[in-house]
Amino acid sequence: MNRRILLIEDNEENRYLATFLLETHGWKIVHAADGPLALTTAAGIAPALILLDIQLPGMDGYAVARALRSQPALDGVPIIAVTSYAMPGDRERCMAAGCNGYIEKPIDPDTFVRDIETFAPGTRGDAA
Ligand code: MN
Repeated sequence: MNRRILLIEDNEENRYLATFLLETHGWKIVHAADGPLALTTAAGIAPALILLDIQLPGMDGYAVARALRSQPALDGVPIIAVTSYAMPGDRERCMAAGCNGYIEKPIDPDTFVRDIETFAPGTRGDAA
């Protein structure tokens, strides 16, 4: 089973927490700290899931989502926005950009992995 997640996140604390929680549940995390790096590596990683911070330096998460969605190799790979944006309409903006889900920061350690895994069919119950 593909247990790779591409985590696109520029904030070190957020990256650390998400990585810790997911690795504890058997996921392998590949990091990209900005959009351009994510776009050049995503297809080669063949991730089961992509977690995408929206507030990124330079190229924001909406642009990254649209660019990821333009890559045929990533067809069918869920993109989950993980964002501290909490403005009305942000969820819709994420979906319009090609995301499949939306999780608000701050990350809740008690629910984060379960929420993520709802987007990866067949992986629930594999938790270590
Ligand atoms: Mn950020």
